[in-house]
Amino acid sequence: MRRMISMAVALMLLLATLCPALCEEGEHYMGKWHYRRDGLHRAYCLDEGCDFYITAPCSALSITYGGETFTACPVCGHNAIGDGRHRRCLVQLYDYSLSPVGDVLVNQYRYPFGRESDIVSTFSVIFESAGVPTVYEGGMTLRLTIDCPAAYELLRVEGEELVFCESSYDALNQRLTFDVPSGSWMFAIRKTA
Ligand SMILES: [Zn+2]
Ligand SMILES: [Zn+2]
Repeated sequence: MRRMISMAVALMLLLATLCPALCEEGEHYMGKWHYRRDGLHRAYCLDEGCDFYITAPCSALSITYGGETFTACPVCGHNAIGDGRHRRCLVQLYDYSLSPVGDVLVNQYRYPFGRESDIVSTFSVIFESAGVPTVYEGGMTLRLTIDCPAAYELLRVEGEELVFCESSYDALNQRLTFDVPSGSWMFAIRKTA
């Protein structure tokens, strides 16, 4: 029994020394980006005993519909007016033809044009590295968990236009699958019935 306790203690000590060692090598385990102020967002390292953080300027992606424009930072979700909230979507698959820098990040904004609009939500798709979106070239298939109405269509912002996108939706599991072309994008889900 005593040996097991000492082994557990040894293991804990090993883990405790391992984690800051990774941090010292610059391999931090970063948390979510949050809006600070003055157009900046910040993320902290989640490892205990590490006080590393990164601050970066917010970016902006826009969508225009019915003469109104909605703009939000695709990294921290700031300026997500709509119904006053945004949420990060779970990305279940991203399969791309060329390797971009960073991790794929999807932020959803509900009712960006109010509850009367047939645009029920909009979402941004970017690759993010150190709080800055990175532009990638090439196509990508994305599958994410997001709520869509029973009758919907997926639209993509292309310049000033909203372009129809092929997609498939598994309503039971709320899984939306579609192709993302080159670049960083805003999408919208429009209720069609
Ligand atoms: Zn760290
Ligand atoms: Zn931001």
